[in-house]
Formats: sequence, C-alpha cells, structure tokens
Amino acid sequence: MRGRMMALPLTINEIMHYAARHHGEVEVVSVTGDEGLHRTTYAQVFERSARLAEVLTGLGLQRGDRVATLAWNDHRHLELYYGVSCAGFVLHTVNPRLFAEHLVYIMNHAEDRVLCFDPIFMPLVEALADKLPTIEHYVVLCGAASIPANKLPGLVCYETLLDNASADYSWPTLDESSASALCYTSGTTGNPKGVLYSHRSTVLHAYGSVMPDTMGLSKRDTVLPVVPMFHANAWGMPYACPIAGAKLVMPGPKMADGETLHSLIESEGVTAALGVPTVWLALLAYLRDSGKTVPSLERTVVGGAACPLSIMREFEDKHGVTTRHAWGMTETSPLGTVNTLLQSMDNLSDRERDEIRVKQGRVPFGVDLKIVNDVGEEQPWDGESFGDLKVRGYWVCDGYFKQDDSVASLDAGGWFSTGDVATIDTAGFMKITDRTKDVIKSGGEWISSIELENLAMGHPDVAEAAVIGVEHPKWTERPLLVVVPREARAIAKRELLDWFKGKVADWWIPNDVVFVESIPHTATGKVSKLSLREQLKDYRLPPG
Ligand code: ADP
Repeated sequence: MRGRMMALPLTINEIMHYAARHHGEVEVVSVTGDEGLHRTTYAQVFERSARLAEVLTGLGLQRGDRVATLAWNDHRHLELYYGVSCAGFVLHTVNPRLFAEHLVYIMNHAEDRVLCFDPIFMPLVEALADKLPTIEHYVVLCGAASIPANKLPGLVCYETLLDNASADYSWPTLDESSASALCYTSGTTGNPKGVLYSHRSTVLHAYGSVMPDTMGLSKRDTVLPVVPMFHANAWGMPYACPIAGAKLVMPGPKMADGETLHSLIESEGVTAALGVPTVWLALLAYLRDSGKTVPSLERTVVGGAACPLSIMREFEDKHGVTTRHAWGMTETSPLGTVNTLLQSMDNLSDRERDEIRVKQGRVPFGVDLKIVNDVGEEQPWDGESFGDLKVRGYWVCDGYFKQDDSVASLDAGGWFSTGDVATIDTAGFMKITDRTKDVIKSGGEWISSIELENLAMGHPDVAEAAVIGVEHPKWTERPLLVVVPREARAIAKRELLDWFKGKVADWWIPNDVVFVESIPHTATGKVSKLSLREQLKDYRLPPG
C-alpha cells in the first residue's frame, strides 16, 4: 500500500523556490575581481539564475549536458550552481589549481559544452582552449568593461548575456535522481575520477548539513565557506545556507588571505566559517601578528585534513571560537563525520576532552561507517582496533562518471571503501590514523603519521609539520619529521624529537627531522605527501 503523502521530488529546484520565497531578503556578500565587495540577496541570485537558465537553453543545451566553471566563491558562481542544475544541466566545477594536463583530461572526459570562468583565469583558458574540442562556448564571468584582452574566438560576456535575457524562464520538473553536478577528485594516483552528484543526494546532504550536531545552521547564522566552490561544492554550503536562511559570505579569490578573512568576519558578523587547516593557520597567524580578534565568530568547521589540536586550542583559548572537526571526501558530498561532544563528556578534564576532539567525529543520520581488516571482517569499536574505513549513505557515490563499476569497488554489502585507515571508539567517534597510502609500516607495525603531525604542530616553534615514512634497512620504514619553523630561529633537532617523549610510544618517535622553508600542498590545500616524498627521495636516514 502506498502512503498518501505528496511525492514532491527532492530537487535543488525546491531549495531555490523555498529560499526565494522564505529567505529572499537574506544577503549574499562576495569579494569579486571586478566589483569589489558585492552585495546581493537570495531572491536576486535566483532571478539571475533564471536568466542564465534561459541563456543556456537558448544555446541548445540538452538535459544532462555539462557546463564547466573555473571560478572562485562568489555570487556569480552561486547563480551558476542554481541556473545550471535547476535547468536540468550538470554543473562541472573545475579546480583551477590542477595541473594543466589534468584540466584538459577532465574537461574532455566530462565533454563540457560551455566553460564559464573568472577573468583571472583568462591566460589559463587561452593556453588550454586548443586542447578542449568539446567546448563550444566560452563565457567570462564579469561585466563588459572588465573583460581582459584576449585571443579567445567567440568569447561572450556573462553580464551582457544576463542583461539581454528574460527572467520569465519556466523551470522544468526534474527527476530527483538526475545528475546535478560533477566534481573530479584531485587524482593523486592516476587520472582524476568524476563524482556525479544527484539532485536527491544534494538535497539530503543539505538537510544533513544543517542539523545541530553537524554544521548546526540557522537563520541567525552568517556563514563564510573558505572551502572553494570547485571542491566538493564548498562542502554543500551553497545549498545548506539557503535552506537554513543563513547569510552567505564568500571570499572570492582571497581564500587563504588572513587579512581578508578577518575583515569579512568583522564587517559581515560571520558566526560560522568552514575550511581546511591551512586556511586557519593563515587566519590565526594574521590575528596573532595584528592583535585583532573575531568576536562574532562562534564556530569553525575544520576538515579536509586532520585538524591539529594547536589550531583548536588557539581558536578556543584566544578567541572563544569552538572548532568542529569534520571528515569527508568528494565521494561523500563531502559530509561524513563531525565532532561535537556528547553531553556525557561535559565533565571530562581538558586533557580527556582534547583526546576526543582530535578525532573526526560521529556520523549524522544519512551516513553509516565501519572499519574492516584485510579480509573484510568488521573490526570492533574499541578505539584501538583499526582498519579500512568504509561508508554508505544517501550522499555517498556508488560509482564514478563514465567509469566501470569496479573502479569504486563497493563491497558485497554496497559499502564504499574510502582509502582511509581509522579507529572507532565505544561512543562512535571515528579517528583517521592515515590514508592507506601514507601509513608508515615499521617492523610490521603501523605508525600514524597524522598523530605525529598533530603533536609536532603543538610545539611552539613549529609553523607546519608533516611526517612521511622513509626506507630503513632493519624496520622497512621509519618516520621522518619535516618541519617549517615558525621563526627563522634554529630549533635543535634533539629538542623537537624529545617533544614526543611520553606523548607517544618510544618506537613511534621519528628518527630524524628535516627543516624546510615550505611544505608542498595539493590542489585542495592539503599537505602533498606525494610531492614531499618526491622532494626527499634522495634523503637517507642517519645510521642507527
Ligand atoms: P582530494 O583527495 O581530491 O584532495 P577529498 O576532499 O576527496 O579531496 O579528500 C578526502 C580525503 O581527505 C579523505 O579520504 C581523508 O584522507 C582526508 N580527510 C578529510 N577530512 C579529514 C580529516 N578531518 N582528518 C584527516 N583526514 C581527512
């Protein structure tokens, strides 16, 4: 027997219609390349999305056709999020920090028909255009007066297109399982793989993100996503904020610029900000050096890479800001787990609480997780046993775009293998110990590079740290600590290594320290262990 309830489709169109009617006046503030600090509202954004949809339809795009973007976080990119997906096309957000060969690969693989890009990327687009045979239309995201000199044939201006379009576009009714957006993983091994989101997964993910123990968003919030809109949809904020009625503040190209982030937080009264740890290192360094504060900021959501305790402490102790540590991946839309403490943890000592806070947290309804050993047997939730982390859920991918099903390698129960190694404790808090490929195997035992990095980052003279495994004749591999010192002051290697004593088992303590001026990062802002290993390939451990 079927229930007698309305079967409204779970589509992004519904988010748009709801937000336009009920939160239409809420502001969207963006740093832009051509218009300085730009202010608009959800109602105006969606009105312009309708014009855009009309333009794209007029270009002859068919359902499911891909429209690529090379753009930072701002109102125009938000208009594309809705104008493209709600018209039945697929928004392909491209990460401009990828290597040129990867950019060419993914745009050809996606068979993008339109490419919309920020003027700042003009030289990049000009250099690639010859190798992008599927792209029929190039659209530069600015007004006519701001178009840089270029040699792109048939380039069109976004603002001119919108000015000449009508806003009477009639939105189609879409099937909730139809594709809405496409995002390629950064491809640290092999070619990037396309994660193809659906309308349904996106709406459910947005619901899941708003919940109190995840991002906890409400109409009282002003949200600053410092995570790019080309990386896992800015962690879903462009969809979750309109649902909650939260004001959206977007930093444009000024992603890791501490001064801009502070000024946006201050001028817009930002209450919640989201980003990877390196972004917060930049903000905290700016606050430290300038003596400025962030009184409006209530919480930061930190994910994408393990958040060192030192970041959480500095936010909390100096600025009264709570940190929510979160884990996820492009394949999980990305919300996987978030760390919010349970009521039963209120009376724990600071040290006990810190031990929990560095974990990646618990799953919300909509995602489930398990850890398994080499032969696929589920491991106990005792905080000690570790295994490959597998997930399933409404917003987890079950395969990749135009790839054989075997590439995603779901197990017999339909669980997706994350490539991470983790423990889960009795309270359900998951802790990532490593990415499978970064695990350090010493004498047959595993050492967690993440744990060592967290500890190193707690040393007052360490600005950034990474730990990699290097060859060792007796133990197969031993940990090497790579450090960017905070000041030019020389830190003694011995002092750094002694720092670990009593904090981890003696045999975990790295064998040596290498000081560097900077640590390489990936296109998504994480420490690139691949490049670091390559950089240090000639390094040999001291004997002993
Ligand atoms: P990419 O691999 O393209 O940089 P993803 O966002 O898909 O982008 O990366 C997901 C991976 O990032 C996870 O599988 C995990 O290894 C790592 N990660 C994400 N959040 C955390 C976290 N809080 N702690 C440790 N690792 C994390």
